[in-house]
Amino acid sequence: MRRAELRIDRSALRHNAEIARRAAGDRKILAAVKADGYGHGAATVAETLRESVDGLMVASLGEGEALRQAGVTLRIVVLQGVTSQAEARRAAKRFLEPVFHHESQIAAVGTVGFGLPLTAWVKLDSGMHRVGFTPAELPEAYARLRGLRGIRPHPGVLTHFARADEPDRSPTDTQIATFRSALASLDDFSGETSLCNSAGLLAFPEAGGDWVRPGIMLYGGNPFVTGTATDHGLRPVMTLTTRLIAVRTLRAGEPIGYGGRFVAPETMPVGVAAIGYGDGYPRHAPDGTPIVVNGQRAAVIGRVSMDLVTIDLRGIQAQVGDEVECWGAQLPIDAVAGRSGTISYELMCQMSGRVQRIVT
Ligand code: PLP
Repeated sequence: MRRAELRIDRSALRHNAEIARRAAGDRKILAAVKADGYGHGAATVAETLRESVDGLMVASLGEGEALRQAGVTLRIVVLQGVTSQAEARRAAKRFLEPVFHHESQIAAVGTVGFGLPLTAWVKLDSGMHRVGFTPAELPEAYARLRGLRGIRPHPGVLTHFARADEPDRSPTDTQIATFRSALASLDDFSGETSLCNSAGLLAFPEAGGDWVRPGIMLYGGNPFVTGTATDHGLRPVMTLTTRLIAVRTLRAGEPIGYGGRFVAPETMPVGVAAIGYGDGYPRHAPDGTPIVVNGQRAAVIGRVSMDLVTIDLRGIQAQVGDEVECWGAQLPIDAVAGRSGTISYELMCQMSGRVQRIVT
């Protein structure tokens, strides 16, 4: 009998990219495919979206190199950039576009060339206060980077929103204004610009920029803290399923699983599904977390273990071998994430190698 399977629906991915394209207007799209395409397989996502987006974005140099190895020819921006001349040469050789977010990176790449000219970006910290040059630091950092021999003229400037997913628009309005005034402080700036993640793209059309950088919306997750992904016409790309490997009867008063967290209030049927935190199912899923058994909405009971999840089957028609959907086509991943005290991004990224992947 099959264990946990992750089905990747490429038509949903293309559909979601189309929604991003519509929202982007004449802006170009850098699809976020870091962390193995949010767990969907970066090369699969890159290949599927080859005609739908204009470039890709990864976090690390190694992620960019792996995509080149897989034959991807789209532009690829590397968020964490390079930290040495050797890394700058690797980036140049593979036509990867590093982001410079810290003075130490500019110092490390030095004034020598890299064999090929490097297309570079500079990260502005417009208010997230995590990485990037402050508006006050930007002019000098930008001028220094422009002055390096190996760097192509006119590096781009990008920034990232901290709170575009929230109902309060003011933090993002402030970030947009900060970005604009920082750009205006640069002498004759004519590089490319980029501001928006998924939430920014959908909720702040006025943010502008040459490029947008959607991630979660492409995968069908809700980019906002309120509402649902379907409110925006998004379709789930990943569906995580497994099978019931046992159906049993708990008697009133009997606990189930580690710690005996759930105690049967009455004699009741329970299902045991072949999936656990060793596959990436969240261990913190509490009693009541939704799960779908044989097309019917049921609830997780008892503590999630490494290989097994236990399910309340009261009122559910089910037998050994039936399909269990943890999230996906019938159950939004955001519903499971929300109950489990996390976000869809984390659930998507934490799928383990034990889960069999099927790309449709
Ligand atoms: N831009 C940057 C710099 C990011 O770090 C990310 C993801 O974390 C994104 C864009 C995409 O964000 P989202 O998945 O919320 O669209």
